[in-house]
This record gives sequence, structure tokens and C-alpha cells, in this order.
Amino acid sequence: MTEKTTQPTLKKRVSLPHNIRRVVFRAEDKTSLIKLPSTPATQNSGNVIRVIPLGGLEEVGRNMIIIEVDGDIFISDMGFEFVTETDAPGISYVLPNVKYLEARKKKIRAVFITHGHLDHIGAIPYIMPRLGNPPIYTRELTALMIKKRQDEFPELPMLDIRMMEPGKRVKIGSTFVEAFAVTHSIPDSMGLKIETRLGNIILSGDLKLDHHDGVPTKEEQDVWSKVKDEKNILFIADSTNAERPGFSITEREVMENIEEIIKKIKGRIIVGTFASQFARMIRIIQIAEKLGRKVVTDGRSIKTNIEVAIAAGLINLTAGHIVDIKTIDDYPPDKILVLATGAQGEEFAALGRASRGVHKFLKFKTTDTIIFSSSVIPGNEVAVQDLKDNLYRYGVHIINYRTSDVHSTGHGNAGELVWINKQVGARYFMPGYGYRSMLHAHADAVIEAGFPKENIILAENGTIIDIMDNKTAKVHKEKVPADPMFVDGTTVSDGQSPVMNDRKVLAQDGIFVVITAINASTGKVHRSPDIISRGFIYLKESQELLKHVRIQTRRLVEEQATKHRPLNLDYIKNDLREKLTKFLLQKTGKRPIILPVILEI
Ligand SMILES: [Zn+2]
Repeated sequence: MTEKTTQPTLKKRVSLPHNIRRVVFRAEDKTSLIKLPSTPATQNSGNVIRVIPLGGLEEVGRNMIIIEVDGDIFISDMGFEFVTETDAPGISYVLPNVKYLEARKKKIRAVFITHGHLDHIGAIPYIMPRLGNPPIYTRELTALMIKKRQDEFPELPMLDIRMMEPGKRVKIGSTFVEAFAVTHSIPDSMGLKIETRLGNIILSGDLKLDHHDGVPTKEEQDVWSKVKDEKNILFIADSTNAERPGFSITEREVMENIEEIIKKIKGRIIVGTFASQFARMIRIIQIAEKLGRKVVTDGRSIKTNIEVAIAAGLINLTAGHIVDIKTIDDYPPDKILVLATGAQGEEFAALGRASRGVHKFLKFKTTDTIIFSSSVIPGNEVAVQDLKDNLYRYGVHIINYRTSDVHSTGHGNAGELVWINKQVGARYFMPGYGYRSMLHAHADAVIEAGFPKENIILAENGTIIDIMDNKTAKVHKEKVPADPMFVDGTTVSDGQSPVMNDRKVLAQDGIFVVITAINASTGKVHRSPDIISRGFIYLKESQELLKHVRIQTRRLVEEQATKHRPLNLDYIKNDLREKLTKFLLQKTGKRPIILPVILEI
């Protein structure tokens, strides 16, 4: 069905509030930007089209971009980021900050999800309830992945998921939005064209190009020639691989290489992968079938993805092709292929456990070949190095993407990004989705290819970009809150919470507990105080220090106890904590968490 649509046209120059001047943003001259002294920029007068990236511009992950059109708010993606223990001990995920949205949740009309990777869907269960559960618009596979994940949160309200089809516009409020298909490492990935009265805003999502020796395929040319439009005012695009020149190797070539490698291997094959390589996982299962190898899958995320792939009709499995890992030794080595999670060095994933010899069924043999068909996600380098070193102890053969072309990324290199940028032909360009260095590399690449430098917007998380009219964009100095929020067990907190600070201190300097019993009537300390300490000093070797702590504690407590009648235990505890902190810092150079416990007897 085709809809008859009319593009709202701009009849007159939009009038701005008196305190906002028209300023064209110039990348090289940020000082020319005006300050907004009285009215905070965070109040959108409604005359401008506003774009705010809330996450994904200073990291790879927690992607979220919001677009405000005539009083309506649209959100693109709701991802999270995995964290390293040292940044935030005990924290599983980092979420984009949604304070700005929470304050305006009545205006939220739609959440578009570009594809099913966790850095684009992972925050949905945590954030949607805070925003009043607005409708989600996406494509089929992504919808299945979102639903599958939502099943893990049965207490949450049902999501309202609506389907989008590439090439078909949907009208939400008074705005038309069109999805277009993009190539990525997971099927059903899409970009977005949001039509506003001041021009189209184009979001790429994660993407690369399918090509033959640097010439984009006919399909890509078709898609991008339709995205091309002189009304395109702002293009925001994936920067993840902008630091790599030229064109990336295509998934097609990678799969041909993997097939060749698998054909030649005589023993067992273990393919290390991770959940986001959805398309490749499907292809490997098909190749194994073609070559007469049964497939063993190990890892919850792989199993989930296979279920989703079957539900989406992306794979047709012959009964018995996937066998239970318990039966792995019932098959000759050349008839087995194992798909295992853990290629990023995740400690408790299948490969990690097998590499430490604690996997119940997967025991390595010298005739095994392990294929790492994925690049290392920044931050995981040390973990992956440990994993490989552990694996080599078993005398296995390892093939990885550095030694042969068995990996392609889901993100286009600079050559692809420049080609895409030229097709889109937007007035303004904002590199998105990646670390700052990647955004800059992306900007440099398109400038070198002729894009006007002054029309490039290098934003950060929380930056407010206002499209003032059909040829002017303005970047505010003022930002909306963008500090990350953390998922801590089942709760969501911000980074300033005292819990996080305590954990950092505990990790650095440990804990020191002093237990003292005091006679309420005499104010005398009963017996020598007890001391418990973890992660601070080795008690057995610190007897001299402990003796001094006991003497000090007794003296300090009795001193305060005689001064303050009736006994004020809180006061005594605080005084003791303060003085012991100084004493221990002097003696040890450490500042543990000190917990004084005073019992009245
Ligand atoms: Zn992705």
C-alpha cells in the first residue's frame, strides 16, 4: 500500500525567541557560539528541530539519539555498554542518561530501534518504564530479539512494538519517518529518514557496504540513491571503523574463506564467536551442514540467537543437525563443529571455562582447531590475550582474523563511509556511534573528500544541536545531563552514588572494623578491642600496628566517654573513625573504610 503524502513546506523564516541569535556552527571556531545566560537551552521553544545524542558519542555502546520535531520527541536506539570492573566495580551495564527525557515523557511519540545488537537494544528493559513505555518501531528480527530479552523481565509491562518496512513511510504525529535497509552483521538493520519541515534528518545506525573490490553492489547503490535528497539537512553516521582506510572485507569473502578453512581441517573445529555476529553464526551452521559436520552450540546467547533465527525464518534446520554437547564425544572429530561463546575473553563463557579446564564437556585435544572469527572489541584485549595463551597450553591450532581473513566487521571503513556520505549529500554532517578519535577520523575522511569543514558537527553526549532553518544548524554550549547511569544488580543508579565510591575504596584500600565494648556506667572499655580487616593489611604480619590501634582505640573511646555523659555512641564512633583514619594513613599510606562498632554493656 502506498500512502499519498505531502511534505510540509516552510512558508516563512521561523521566528526565534529573543534570546537566541542565529549562529552558524563552525567546527574550528567554537568561541563564536553564543551563551544562553537566562533561558536554558534545554527548553526547546518548539520552533527549531532539535537533535541530542544522549549516548554513543564518547564510547562504543549505549547508543541513543533524540530528535525533537514540533513538540514531538523521537528516540533512536536504546543501548547499553558493558563496563570494565575497574571503572565501576560490581556494575554490569552502563545506560544513557535519560533525565532530559523523563522530564518530557509526555512528548515522546516513538522509539526507533535500528537493529538488534545490545548496544542498541540493551537498555530497553531499564529505560522504557521510566519513559511511560512509548511505542517501539523496528523490523522483524530486531522485534524478536527485543521480545526475547524482555522475557527475562516478566514484571515489566508489555512492549508496544510496531513493524517498519524499508521504503515505506510511517506517519507519527505529524512527522513522516522512513526506514531504509543497511548492511550490518545482523539482518534487518535499518537507517532512518526523519522528514521535518526544515529538512530530513538521516540516521545511519550501524552499517557497512556490500561491495566488489571497492565498488558498492547494485543493491547498495539502489538503497543509497533513494536516501539521497536535496532536503537532507543533517546526516549522523556510524564512525566505529573510520580510523581504518579503504573498504572493509565483505562478509561474502569472509564466509568463502571460512568455508575453505573448514574444508581443509581434519580434526574437530571450534569456532569462537560472540552473540552479535548473528549473520555469520547462521552461515557457519549452514556450511557445517554442507560439509557433513554436526554442530554443537555452547553458550546461552548462541542458543537464544538460533531460536530467534528460526522464528524469523532465517534458518531452516535439518532435524538432528544440532546435537547436544553431552554427546560431543560420540562423533568422529572430523564430523563435529562447535560454536562457542567467549571470543571476547569473557570469563564465564564457554571458551573461557574450557580454556581453564573447568568445562564439563568441552575438553581440548591437540588435533583441535579453534577459529577466532571476530576482532577484539576495544577494552577486551588483555582478556583475549589470556584466553589465547591458555588455549595454546592444550597444543591446539588457532586460526584468527589476523592470520587469515576470517573476520569482517559490521562497520564500514573510511572509504565506505565517504562513499555513503556523498550519496546522502546532507548539508550538515555529524559523525556518530564511536569514541572521540573515531568521530574525528570520520570527520577528517569526509573533509578530505570535499565536505565543507564548517558544516561538520563534532558533538559529545548531551550536546544540543538545533536546526534553526533549512540551512542553519546551531550547537549549544550548554548540554543536557549525559553522565551515564549504571545497572547495579536489579537497580539503576547514577555514578555519584555513595555505594560506588565505597566500592572503589574497598577495592583500593579494603575495610577495617574495630569492635569495642564499653561499660555504660563507668565509661571504661571492657577488654582489648577486636579488629577485623579485609583487603587492607595482612593482620598476621602487622601485630605491632594492631597493638597501637588497640591502645589508641581504648584511649580515644574512654576519653570521649568520660567527657560526654550520658554516652553519645554516634559521636564517639565518628571521633574514632576520624582519628583512626589519620593514624592508619600515617602508618600505612592507605585509607581503608573504617567501621567502628561500639557495644554498650
Ligand atoms: Zn551493531
